[in-house]
Amino acid sequence: MTNLGVLLEVQQYDTQLLQVAHRLAHLVERNLLAEAKTKVLAAERQMIVLRQQAEAAKAEVGAVEALNKKHDVMIAKYSQQLRTVTAPREAEALQHEIEMARVERGQNDDRELTLFETIENLDDQITALLLETERLESSLVGATADFETAVSVCQVEMQKIETSRAEIVATIDAKLMRLYETKRAKRTTPAVARLHGTKCQSCHLDLSVVELAALKKLGADDHAVCPNCDCYLVV
Ligand SMILES: [Zn+2]
Repeated sequence: MTNLGVLLEVQQYDTQLLQVAHRLAHLVERNLLAEAKTKVLAAERQMIVLRQQAEAAKAEVGAVEALNKKHDVMIAKYSQQLRTVTAPREAEALQHEIEMARVERGQNDDRELTLFETIENLDDQITALLLETERLESSLVGATADFETAVSVCQVEMQKIETSRAEIVATIDAKLMRLYETKRAKRTTPAVARLHGTKCQSCHLDLSVVELAALKKLGADDHAVCPNCDCYLVV
């Protein structure tokens, strides 16, 4: 039976690399960053809506004022005509027109007041949202920095492990490393493990008496393999 003990250390580094990769993929900082981005985007969308509403209200104020100018011109014109007409029916008609224009003007004034209130309210909301957006953006900057730090910590750790692994690999026979890599590529559990008593340390299952006896009969060049999970065994 060949001695596969040299591979155990490589396997240990590979397990560590997997753990760091898993940590990197599930960083809390990644979720916090995503949350911070979502909040900023929501605030930006809200700002667009508020600004559109404010612009629409201002545009309506402009329209109402333009209409009022027309009414003023008409009222002035009819009042002027009223001074020169003598027929009572004509005067009555003009007075009616003036009255109608005044009523409409009054309604427009009410509408304008409501619009002014709306605009003021929207402006207050925009001011508050600007402050909130500023706060959210600064949170996003912080969350980005935290995420980058956490990623960099993982990367540094991985590089250290890779370096140590490479040092060990350099001392191992290339053919043996190829066998190990081939086996490792097909699985997520350790490709090489110690046999502890009767238990494989990769799958944690016990080998039967017959299986243990078979291991002992292996030739000098044979690799011991777990009959349960197919990993290489260090006996
Ligand atoms: Zn096993």
